[in-house]
Amino acid sequence: MRIGFTYNLKKDKVRSDPNGRDNPAEEDWDDSDAEYEDLETIDALAAALETCTEEPVVRLPCDHALPARLESEHLDFVFNIAEGWGGRNREAFAPSLFEIFGIPYTGSDGLTLSLTLNKVLTKKILMAEGIPTPEFFVVRDLGELRDIPLPFPLFVKPCHEGTSKGIRNFSLVRNPDELERAVSWVLINYHQPALVERFISGPEVAVGILGNGPDIKILPHAEIRFTEQNPFYSFECKSLVDEEILCPAPLSPSLTMRIEEIALAAYESFGCRDLARLDLRINETGEPYVLEINPLPGLSPRYSLFPIQAAAASMDYKAMVRALVGQAMKRYSMDRRGRNARIQPKVWAAKPNGDEVWKGEIRNRVREPDELKRFLNLDDACISWLKEHGERLPFAVTPYLLSIADPDDPHCPIRRQFLPSPEELNDHLGYADPLLEKEHEAAPGLIRVYEDRAAWCVSSFCPSLCRHCLRRDRFQSDHQNPPSWDRIASVLDAVSLNPGIRDLLLTGGDPLVYEDGFLEELLLKIRELDQIQIVRIGTRLPCTLPQRITNNLLRMLRKFQPLWISTQFNHPREITKDSAEACVRIAEAGIPVLNQSVLLRGVNDTAPVMKDLVERLIRIRVRPYYLYQCQLVSGTAHFRTTIEQGMGLVRALRGRTSGFAIPQYVLDTPYGKVPLGPNYFRGREDGSVMMESYDGRLWKEKNPVSKPDIGN
Ligand code: SF4
Repeated sequence: MRIGFTYNLKKDKVRSDPNGRDNPAEEDWDDSDAEYEDLETIDALAAALETCTEEPVVRLPCDHALPARLESEHLDFVFNIAEGWGGRNREAFAPSLFEIFGIPYTGSDGLTLSLTLNKVLTKKILMAEGIPTPEFFVVRDLGELRDIPLPFPLFVKPCHEGTSKGIRNFSLVRNPDELERAVSWVLINYHQPALVERFISGPEVAVGILGNGPDIKILPHAEIRFTEQNPFYSFECKSLVDEEILCPAPLSPSLTMRIEEIALAAYESFGCRDLARLDLRINETGEPYVLEINPLPGLSPRYSLFPIQAAAASMDYKAMVRALVGQAMKRYSMDRRGRNARIQPKVWAAKPNGDEVWKGEIRNRVREPDELKRFLNLDDACISWLKEHGERLPFAVTPYLLSIADPDDPHCPIRRQFLPSPEELNDHLGYADPLLEKEHEAAPGLIRVYEDRAAWCVSSFCPSLCRHCLRRDRFQSDHQNPPSWDRIASVLDAVSLNPGIRDLLLTGGDPLVYEDGFLEELLLKIRELDQIQIVRIGTRLPCTLPQRITNNLLRMLRKFQPLWISTQFNHPREITKDSAEACVRIAEAGIPVLNQSVLLRGVNDTAPVMKDLVERLIRIRVRPYYLYQCQLVSGTAHFRTTIEQGMGLVRALRGRTSGFAIPQYVLDTPYGKVPLGPNYFRGREDGSVMMESYDGRLWKEKNPVSKPDIGN
């Protein structure tokens, strides 16, 4: 593969004094090529790029000769860090040429680069997207400073510059005189309006993002500790390199989560590609604000933040460059030899905020047979059968679940769990309510089987309908609306009339289909009952709609500790990047996640599949807790195994995987759960008991019949 490398090389004139003085005033420091790279960086990047190709890397300074070089060099791919030159579209210059010549390239396109170079437009877009950024105003003429709309301290910078260009120690202003001086300096020296924004005084954090779409990786955050003389990233500070960089930054988990949520939203709102560094500042109340988005971050191997952050993620310089190249090639569907490039690269649309994503999944859930053809290769006979039985066997599946199903395999475990099958019509044993839940209701929807626990079916809606659902004929409604507060009050009254209840399970349907605000109010009301020690939420959404696990949801839930989540993964195929991330983030929010699989014939009834499932679960911090025998629910005969098979399966796991990864196999009955398991106890011989090990060897353990004397 023939790789080109475009860049702008710094000339050796930083800090030169136009008036020939030994110690020029800070206003006179020349920052005209501050954005450009030094030769050390160019050499380091070229050396790293050599590891991506067997051919020599073609160095291409970004100058007037670039168009002709692109035309004549027959490049397969370009690694671009060129800042361009001239006006405010300068960073778009090289990417626009690559597009004209049809050459795939790393990094963001011209639109993203121009937008983010324009600090005013950047802030307007951030604000429109609801992403916090300091308030600001723009000054084009000193006369506009008669009315200053924001309180001091303020911060002054040029409207469209990068790499601290136009930011000096006097850019932080505390009174009108300082403001006038700083604004006038920008107007005179940069021939562009001055951006004046509220100064956020807290720590500055750099967020490095590498990758696209589902491959996005957030590098460890870097906190920049400034000196007293240089309290922010001024040109002087960058030139002197006297700030301290802490990477990984010592931030709390909740602040880290908030920073990442904001940084990702900004990265995606601007259509950044492959990499970017975002600079944020944290205010006194701990709220992060985006200062700048840098889709062309510095890559000096010696002092730039992005490589420092990559190193903190155990990625050395060459590995970082290879990862960037790999991400870009993936966007163009290129192989390592530079073949198969799609000239129109994949573009990840600006991602809507978290709530819009999961609500969109529910809105767009597939319920019509013809719509399935968008995801699966179904023949006409299959579609006709689904239509014919649509009334008796309705279905609903989210686009996400269909996207992880095998389009060609009718036995795919996702398809088997969520799409109707003719086998459902051949069940002569099943019941609508095999656990007699109706008889155990202490109030409508409040099921109490045990003295100290109750399950509250607070929702009757699930975004995707499981064919094996215990409540498939009773609770699977189209109503996503939450219950009325009167109804909720009557259930909570029933709970308080049963003071023995200390553990309340919210279930359904799925309780997490409701808005965060409703759930918060509901949990507040539950927490008002002193008797409730533990709240559990039974939800399959970490598996079936992981997009629901937003940071806002987790921030809200963690206020109600102790809180546990029970979920349901039944097959390793369900553990995707999205569902894994959702579970890890729940765990990182301090909420334990337990898995309650259902043993399903043709889905997870073999030892290798079950072993794979439980081992993947513990890797994503989910504890395999129960393995349920499939209930005698009408229409599920084809899923049911024999109980002996189930016991054999659990036995096959014992001794062959971590003990805590083995779920307890249970049968739920109207009288509570009955543990089912292989018996390793072989009987007694006088003062010993005979045991069988997991692999069938016998062991005799001394165990006197009478209680032994323990000391005196
Ligand atoms: S998620 Fe649970 S309640 Fe919803 S359909 Fe599946 S098994 Fe039933």
